[in-house]
Amino acid sequence: SRIPLTVLGAGAMGAALVRAWLAAGHPVTVWNRTPARAEALAAEGAAVARTAAEAVAASRLVIVCLLDDASVGEALDGADLAGRDLVNLTTGTPAQGRARAAWAAARGARFVDAGIMAVPPMIGDPDSGAYVFYSGSSALFEEHRDTLAVPAGTHWAGEDPGFAALHDVALLSAMTGMFAGVLHAFALIRAEDIAPKDFAPLLSGWLTAMTPAVHKAAEQIQSGDYGKDVVSNLAMQVAGNATLLRTAEEQGVSAELLAPYMALTERRLADGHGDEDISGVVELLGRRHGPG
Ligand code: NDP
Repeated sequence: SRIPLTVLGAGAMGAALVRAWLAAGHPVTVWNRTPARAEALAAEGAAVARTAAEAVAASRLVIVCLLDDASVGEALDGADLAGRDLVNLTTGTPAQGRARAAWAAARGARFVDAGIMAVPPMIGDPDSGAYVFYSGSSALFEEHRDTLAVPAGTHWAGEDPGFAALHDVALLSAMTGMFAGVLHAFALIRAEDIAPKDFAPLLSGWLTAMTPAVHKAAEQIQSGDYGKDVVSNLAMQVAGNATLLRTAEEQGVSAELLAPYMALTERRLADGHGDEDISGVVELLGRRHGPG
């Protein structure tokens, strides 16, 4: 049941994946553009291929974890993919995932795209919470699910090969906003004699306490009814913006991380939605389709 597999890419993430599969007893063939990084893994039991084409020929299951979508096309140019099961763990956009799926199908390979929700030290540690979104060929995914579950948990995102990337990037985008807020908060307090390390548990606790708001926002966004069960209405929150901005000014901190979001809340208020929830701002961001 420990099937052999090939990994293209021995960067920080690729190497962590290789180590996890080796530790679980899978024979692993690895290729990396810069040979030294692959050779470091040979000492740990990996077979090193000289070319990507040779690595692809070594195993039916081929895992790709390179820098970006362009490097995937470059590395696999000239490799014979007929009959291969290609799993692309390279971060990309939904459109890149769909295009890569069509590209693989034209070359006779089954394909799933993937998005890794982890950093390399979490890989291979079942308690880390690491998991990977997969989408595309459900036949490939079902056949290799146990092998794919070795480095990290698996989350099936659907047959649309763009959905793994879409889920991945949506979560990363939310994280981006959260980190922006976190940095702004630290900037405010570090202007005084408050140690960031003492403040950190308060910040972490507050963000955790606020996360259930995600579920209420989901309900409102799905129904399109932003006026239901409103606890903190938009007009009140926009009034609160002024306090946040004045405090930034008092502390000598730039408010540029907050400004674009606040501008949207003000536009939504001006559109007459002051008694609704702030989640209605989503209507200013773009298209609406299907159930959401
Ligand atoms: P690294 O920068 O450590 O490694 C990049 C890899 O891509 C190397 O193997 C590099 O080869 C290879 N590469 C770059 N360009 C080309 C090219 N044109 N042709 C062939 N190979 C190329 O990145 P990571 O390993 O950290 O990341 C790999 C993927 O994993 C990315 O898509 C990243 O977004 C994703 N990921 C990474 C996470 C992380 O925290 N590290 C978290 C989640 C996802 P060479 O050694 O020759 O330069």
